[in-house]
Amino acid sequence: MSDLVVEGLHASVAGREILRGVDLRVGGGEVHALMGPNGSGKSTLSHVLAGRPGYEVTAGSVRLDGVELLGLPAWERAQAGLFLALQYPIEVPGVSVYDALGESMEAAGRERGRVRELVGAEARRIGLDEALLTRALNVDLSGGERKRNEILQLAVLQPKVAVLDEIDSGLDIDALTAVARRVAQLAAESGTGVLAITHYQRLLSELAADKVHVLSAGRVVQTGGPELALELERTGYAAYGGEQEEPGEPAVARRPRPLV
Ligand code: ADP
Ligand code: MG
Repeated sequence: MSDLVVEGLHASVAGREILRGVDLRVGGGEVHALMGPNGSGKSTLSHVLAGRPGYEVTAGSVRLDGVELLGLPAWERAQAGLFLALQYPIEVPGVSVYDALGESMEAAGRERGRVRELVGAEARRIGLDEALLTRALNVDLSGGERKRNEILQLAVLQPKVAVLDEIDSGLDIDALTAVARRVAQLAAESGTGVLAITHYQRLLSELAADKVHVLSAGRVVQTGGPELALELERTGYAAYGGEQEEPGEPAVARRPRPLV
């Protein structure tokens, strides 16, 4: 079973320290949730793990099955088995999902010729219109379609570890259920370790999260079981130095945030 180990991770962006000593461990087949107030550094953590340029790591380590990922370019981290579903999936003009996944499968030593069959099967499974698949990646897709597209890529690639940044935002309840079930199944059947960043207990119960962590001001300040997410839904993040969020507000009631 694979193992992602983050130790004492410090990182700055634009000269400001955002991550101030993150410790986390996600084993194969486990589903962990990462919650925390807006601006606490959740997306920054996902970008630093994936190796997005522009973030300066000043201390710590990120190892996947003993391999140090820090210092590797993003594509080598992906090849090592790390997958990131972006909070705001980007448009990639000129590249279809078949092209992107075909290249990734080939790089992983898998049979590229099966990409259409696998993508088609996953699209049906999570309710993504197959007509959208021939378009350039995410171009003219709605927010919800982009999120489903991210999960489709995850399911085809079956990485060792998947970091999902607010995969629930922009999804209606039926899509959320379909997506969460597919992710839970990947964890159970393919041994993918999952770190799901979310504000919503609903996603966590569908995902059957084993552990819940609270990130505040760039550190994991609390770790617990699923009951912690229920408590946070009642109390908000006031106890962790964050803003009080509206308790129990369902994902569907939120205005979708603009996609960048
Ligand atoms: P979260 O995902 O927990 O809401 P983020 O990781 O997106 O939080 O942001 C944490 C902090 O880092 C915020 O104060 C944000 O403004 C800042 N930040 C993130 N990315 C950048 C960037 N590229 N340039 C400057 N500041 C950034
Ligand atoms: Mg974020």
